Amino acid sequence: MDKIKIFAPATVANVSCAFDILGFALESVGDEMIISKLAEKKITISLEEGSNLPLAPEKNVAGVVAQAMLDKANANFGIHIHIDKRIKPGSGIGSSAASSAGTAYALNKLLGNIFTDTELIEFAMLGEALASGIPHADNVAPAILGGFALARSTHPLDVIKIPAPQELYCTVIHPQIEVKTENSRKILKKNILLKNAVSQWGNIAGLIAGLYRNDYDLIGRSLDDKIVEPVRSILIPLFSELKQAFLKAGALGGGISGSGPSVFALSKGKNRAQKVADAMNDVYAKTGVDYDIHLSKINEQGVIELK
Ligand code: ADP
Repeated sequence: MDKIKIFAPATVANVSCAFDILGFALESVGDEMIISKLAEKKITISLEEGSNLPLAPEKNVAGVVAQAMLDKANANFGIHIHIDKRIKPGSGIGSSAASSAGTAYALNKLLGNIFTDTELIEFAMLGEALASGIPHADNVAPAILGGFALARSTHPLDVIKIPAPQELYCTVIHPQIEVKTENSRKILKKNILLKNAVSQWGNIAGLIAGLYRNDYDLIGRSLDDKIVEPVRSILIPLFSELKQAFLKAGALGGGISGSGPSVFALSKGKNRAQKVADAMNDVYAKTGVDYDIHLSKINEQGVIELK
């Protein structure tokens, strides 16, 4: 195999209460990439028209991930990476993670599937370290594995795939303002109150139990973040109005996607998720801020090869 085309999904990390440890992949939102072998041992990158990302391999997450994998495999070839970037960088739905995870998956195929999924997640985390300063796994793990992925620990890496109930849909609004992960990390408090921690780990456990039991109400009750959302929501225009509107429209719950500015809501069934999209639209139509709204089922497969 000399060339592979893939779809790399957008991902929602943090999932309200589960800061830094949980994420899920979207089915109908993501980038496309083509990775091809080069005879010469070098990495080159090109972008579909319209995106403005670094082309130097050491500055692009795809290049960083590819270099680490080629080095580790002692490969005798180079690669060209073409990225059709459909997830806007800094959107909070895993733009950098899609490129990192997509590269890890695709290059592993070109190398003859020599790495395990856990190793692919570890390589992809190098891209996240470049993008945000922290090698977090909560976007790249679900991007590679599909479904919900719990990163119980990053040192050593311990990732568990969690099944998603069949009728679970996600609605995401992306206000077109850039919030860099690096900056939205800086405003977080270093210490938290014990009573907030207790509430938070109760919710995380409830969320995981709800996902396994297909208990939509339990999922909804558990989507409550006492620690990060109160601090970060100030970066997102009309956050509390959005939240009130999606809950009123019947969403199970939701919160900030990744480090923002995107906001997500989970719903039971596509019709409900569409009502939530309409409610989000009503709130943002008056703001004058440009925005996109995505509606997607949870993606069970992660990165896939496109024929
Ligand atoms: P997101 O959550 O949308 O991925 P981040 O702030 O984590 O946003 O990452 C975006 C940053 O990563 C930007 O500074 C962008 O220039 C950088 N970056 C480097 N390579 C890529 C890539 N291939 N795709 C997306 N972002 C990239």
